[in-house]
Amino acid sequence: MRREIKRALHLTALNNLRGLCGEAVVAVNHAHAPFSGYKVGAAILTANGKVYCGANVEFTPTTAVHAEVVALVKMLYDNPKAKAVAIALSTREGKYPPCGECRQALFQANPKMLTVGCNHNGAVKIVKTLKEIYPHAHAWRRIVPRTSRFK
Ligand SMILES: [Zn+2]
Repeated sequence: MRREIKRALHLTALNNLRGLCGEAVVAVNHAHAPFSGYKVGAAILTANGKVYCGANVEFTPTTAVHAEVVALVKMLYDNPKAKAVAIALSTREGKYPPCGECRQALFQANPKMLTVGCNHNGAVKIVKTLKEIYPHAHAWRRIVPRTSRFK
């Protein structure tokens, strides 16, 4: 196991990727995907051991909120200073990575976050650091006002 992943796992209270994936699998039940049929569940683990779940919601064929953002917004609403250390995504095949917009949002929450992909049965299919899947993040520090929570 790579050093970055070991370090991220060390920070987690669950210290169990399957447990976090189990939360993401449960979150899939809350997905609303009448147009694409593609249901995604997400579970974010914070440094203090709390888990925030989210699911994708489609409003129209071209308007949707992704599971990662739903979970992230729930975390930030509950505690703006929470530090996300890992996110598990449950998709049909388990290897579907976050889209570019979600990668940027997750990067702003914690660039060192661990990402875990699992299928709808909770089987872990892929584990990567956010930096591995998003090596060249947008330079958000320069464009976000100082009053933002993303300082
Ligand atoms: Zn996305």
